[in-house]
Amino acid sequence: MANEQLKTAAASAPWMADALAPGLPPQVFQHTVSQADMAISITDVHGNILYVNPAFTRVTGYTTDEAIGKNQSILSNKTMPPALYQSLWQKISQGEVWTGRLINRHKDGSQYLAELSISPIVDAHGKVLNYLGMHRDITEVHRLEYQVRNQKALIESVVDAAPVVIALLDVDDRVVLDNHEYKKLQADLGMAEPAPMLMSAIRASLELESGKGRRTSGYLFLDREVRIDRPGGNTPRWFSCSGSRVREDDSTADAFLAGRRRDYLLLVAKEITSLRAQQEKVRVAALQAVMADEDRVLALRESLAAATFRIEGPLNMMASVVAMLARRKGETDPMSVALVEAIAAGQQALEELRSMIPGETREAIGPVNLNELLRDVLDLSTGHLLAAGITVSWKPQAMLPALQGAPNKLRSLFKALIDNAIEAMNVRGCRERELTLASKERRGGIEVLIEDSGPGIDNSQHLKVFEPFHTTKRGGGHLGTGLSSAQQVAADHGGYIEIGPAAVRGCRVRVLLPLHPRP
Ligand code: FAD
Repeated sequence: MANEQLKTAAASAPWMADALAPGLPPQVFQHTVSQADMAISITDVHGNILYVNPAFTRVTGYTTDEAIGKNQSILSNKTMPPALYQSLWQKISQGEVWTGRLINRHKDGSQYLAELSISPIVDAHGKVLNYLGMHRDITEVHRLEYQVRNQKALIESVVDAAPVVIALLDVDDRVVLDNHEYKKLQADLGMAEPAPMLMSAIRASLELESGKGRRTSGYLFLDREVRIDRPGGNTPRWFSCSGSRVREDDSTADAFLAGRRRDYLLLVAKEITSLRAQQEKVRVAALQAVMADEDRVLALRESLAAATFRIEGPLNMMASVVAMLARRKGETDPMSVALVEAIAAGQQALEELRSMIPGETREAIGPVNLNELLRDVLDLSTGHLLAAGITVSWKPQAMLPALQGAPNKLRSLFKALIDNAIEAMNVRGCRERELTLASKERRGGIEVLIEDSGPGIDNSQHLKVFEPFHTTKRGGGHLGTGLSSAQQVAADHGGYIEIGPAAVRGCRVRVLLPLHPRP
């Protein structure tokens, strides 16, 4: 029967005679078309059906007899826009292939979605003789496609509405999916991508703890607290971050047999800024008390050191006088004897004074976040800054690696430098009072710049100011040990402080501390 049909079709489609001709036995061609799992039809140039295969009957419900002689439009559901058919016919009548999706109607009246391809069959001169239509029912595939799409949209809106930062990262920390909160954070950071920043801080903290971190099954890391510093006077933001691995089957062709999988990291960051802000308030208050205490001890140590330094001068002078008298009048001269006794008494008093100088407290070395520490110093100095009418411009690098150091000593170092800046600007005649504080990772270390708009330090004094007991400040009350002690702390950390020319006016102090000081 199918063979007969093909012969009839071949009679009105001369190209089919060629196809049935030598080379390929006619039954192979016939079996191929009739057994194909796709609805196949051959029409004349008007779309009138000349041949349909069994799959056409299965898909459309029309038997061969019912279909032959009818126009392909029997399958039209009459709902597609006429312009679509116009463009379809325009294309195929010009000898081009048309492919697309149409809503078709079964013989029983029910609808189905067809994926259709119409190929014009042309003669040797390019004249269209027939059309070959091939289509399949993709209603179920379409339903599944939409189900997946709907699920994706649903998941995306749930993820978007979540009040936490969510980002899915590939192995190179590139964001492949994010949510609304993530985008808000990115905007807050001036469009810098937050995920790599968060990940580098998390990795650094995991490395520091070298595996001591809490590892709960399913999570690569859990509740890692990360601080992000924002430019301007904005308070830092804190996040508690957790990460878990997500796996996806690789859908690329080369992974078809190998069945490869791709690994992603689901990063969830919950903002804990307000909680941390409360903790910070308590911590800064405690710090204030500790620092006031340390300041008192430091002042005592400096005063005693200065006193011993000042007493040493006259004693040395007296020793020279004794030597001179001994040369001129002999060692038994009563004046010499009296002076030697006075010197001995002075030396003893000096020793007693020295023994009263409080020793330096030893401090444990640990990871220090300089941004956190500088912020502490600003918080501690808020009162002085406000009283002096100083505007602070805080320019931290959003995320700084931790360095190994003694936090209290480093805090005192920066406190001394900021106190100096405040004092320099808090003088009559200094109208613009601006303090700029910036941190940056640089050449294997961290650079902190402290700039003030005060009168500045003369070039000739740039090195001298680090000498102990040297002061450029007029009036009493200054021993001139602040910068030398600060320089000592920097040196203990393998770094240094230098005073350079300020960009416009005032004073620029640069502190450079290496991340990994040489032992
Ligand atoms: P119609 O009035 O028949 O056609 C709509 C517009 O199409 C017309 O205004 C006209 O601009 C253009 N048109 C129609 N016939 C011709 C023509 N002979 N030459 C130039 N322009 C013409 N349609 C389906 O809906 N589902 C199918 O599965 C399907 N399979 C097809 C398979 C083949 C091999 C071919 C050649 C066509 C197929 N068609 C199919 C298209 C079909 O022939 C109709 O054009 C379509 O169904 C629209 O029918 P209609 O009655 O709604 O409007």
